[in-house]
Amino acid sequence: MEKQGLLYEGKAKRLYNTEDANLLISEFKDDLTAGNAAKKGSEEGKGVLNCKISTQLFELLEKHGIKTHLVKTLDDNNQLVKKVDIIMIEVVVRNIATGSLTKRLGIKDGTVLPFSLVEFYYKEDALNDPILNDEHCIMMDLVKSESDLEELKRLGREINSILKKFFIERRLNLVDFKVEFGVDSEGNILLADEISPDSCRFWDMDTNEKLDKDLFRQDLGNVKVAYQEVLNRILK
Ligand code: ADP
Ligand code: UDP
Repeated sequence: MEKQGLLYEGKAKRLYNTEDANLLISEFKDDLTAGNAAKKGSEEGKGVLNCKISTQLFELLEKHGIKTHLVKTLDDNNQLVKKVDIIMIEVVVRNIATGSLTKRLGIKDGTVLPFSLVEFYYKEDALNDPILNDEHCIMMDLVKSESDLEELKRLGREINSILKKFFIERRLNLVDFKVEFGVDSEGNILLADEISPDSCRFWDMDTNEKLDKDLFRQDLGNVKVAYQEVLNRILK
């Protein structure tokens, strides 16, 4: 399958049309951004690492019955995916409080949450991705019905329990993550976009070392070394 015209260029990926109207090629870029692109950088090889990590995690989730957009990996940083209408809600699942949750609610950083918390954010850079409640989602027509919201929550929790267990076996705490879903040409809700250290927080269970995009966000260390370590543990 060959790339045809560029459909969309985002902060971390390029999407290309293909000869099949239902399929796209998703190319992972080396660029890194934080604070809705207020901070920008690039790390050669980051795109390849994220493509490999995301491929492994999507295949793991597929094995556990989660439907995803992934058709196959074409090469080191290109995936063939089903084209979907992206639901403009970022589904965030949290196991440990950090980041915006601690800032918003004053919860101490590192607090283990009593249950996995699912949150919705409006996927709209111009508004800095504000948090949404269920009624906002319905009012803004971001989903068709309340049952779709329940399905997003169920999928978020299910993905969390599969990934959390997988990473505990690799001595990594899955602190929190963001996922995106879309609707395919047959009306199925599919997991889309990516799951990588750009969109998840991973803390080493023994040292508490961060192995994710916070290294870039907070100028704490080398992203590539950390992402490679995440991939090595996934492949162990
Ligand atoms: P952003 O748009 O936030 O800068 P990316 O650089 O990762 O993010 O761009 C990828 C874009 O492609 C995202 O907006 C994402 O919602 C969208 N996307 C991901 N998977 C699919 C898919 N299978 N079909 C259509 N759009 C997708
Ligand atoms: N996240 C993301 N994209 C975003 C916002 C958040 O992938 O646009 C991820 C982030 O990497 C973390 C989780 O969602 O794993 C929760 O992020 P948080 O709300 O704490 O925001 P942040 O501190 O990143 O601003």
